[in-house]
Amino acid sequence: MFADLHLHTFFSDGTYSPEEMVSHAARHRFAALALTDHDTVEGCERTGRACEAAGIEFVTGAELTAEQDDHELHVLGYFIDAQNPRLLTELGKFQTVRQNRIREMVTRLNRVNVPLTADEVFALANCRSPGRPHVARALVKAGLCSSLDEAFERFLKKNRPAWVPKFKMSAHDAIQLIHHAGGVAVMAHPGLNHNDDVIPSMVDAGLDGLECFHTKHSTSITEHYLEMADHFHLLVTGGSDCHGMSKGKPLIGTVKVPYQHVEQLRAKAAERRAATVAVQ
Ligand code: AMP
Ligand code: ZN
Ligand code: FE
Ligand code: FE
Repeated sequence: MFADLHLHTFFSDGTYSPEEMVSHAARHRFAALALTDHDTVEGCERTGRACEAAGIEFVTGAELTAEQDDHELHVLGYFIDAQNPRLLTELGKFQTVRQNRIREMVTRLNRVNVPLTADEVFALANCRSPGRPHVARALVKAGLCSSLDEAFERFLKKNRPAWVPKFKMSAHDAIQLIHHAGGVAVMAHPGLNHNDDVIPSMVDAGLDGLECFHTKHSTSITEHYLEMADHFHLLVTGGSDCHGMSKGKPLIGTVKVPYQHVEQLRAKAAERRAATVAVQ
């Protein structure tokens, strides 16, 4: 039995609906999956229903944009309560910032004579948590760029004309927010961060796990983080980080995490919740 614990739908910058994602998961015979859209839990209810219909266990999740020592990093929350008021308030702030950032990116595009409108981006994104991939897709759709890569290379990459920095909460606040919502906090794709130095202080802040298995982790990188998880007594997770068709071939099915890791996550979430109740 296997799980994929890192998936995006069109509730952030993936292209699949929850139902499409779940039908792919069913084809790959996954026993469990987690939805980890960027800075939102909006898609969880629908994905949970689709999973139930397909006989797949669903884990509520989100991928929070955070930073530590000036480096962007992503913190995955699993088994979070998607109705938790403080979680929803904080995610709402993120989403407002993301929407304003789209407007700012469009203003900067207009300044270099690229005639895109924010409405075109919002219409295409059709979600509360829009990002650069939506601007890239809107540029291609409007015939202003010939590919997503061109859009990023010419306009959207860091220090290009339409690049706008993104608001991020501190990694410690992200961990705390996830715990507050009854969840387990995991550092996403550490191999992409090129900065292991931040890990010990995140462990001190209550980090529960490391995403050792990821599409972009080589076997040796995976081994390295499995050893690190063991060293710091962290849980092990993994997933494909599938964004549907938005980054070429769908990645779902390329990373299969043994189901025991889901059980360990669930046990940890129960432990965290029990500790929170004891404190109250
Ligand atoms: P944002 O969160 O709005 O800054 O957008 C980040 C997203 O843009 C991530 O999902 C990245 O994978 C994606 N991205 C970054 N660079 C590129 C690129 N050159 N081509 C396609 N997608 C990219
Ligand atoms: Zn993404
Ligand atoms: Fe990520
Ligand atoms: Fe992701």
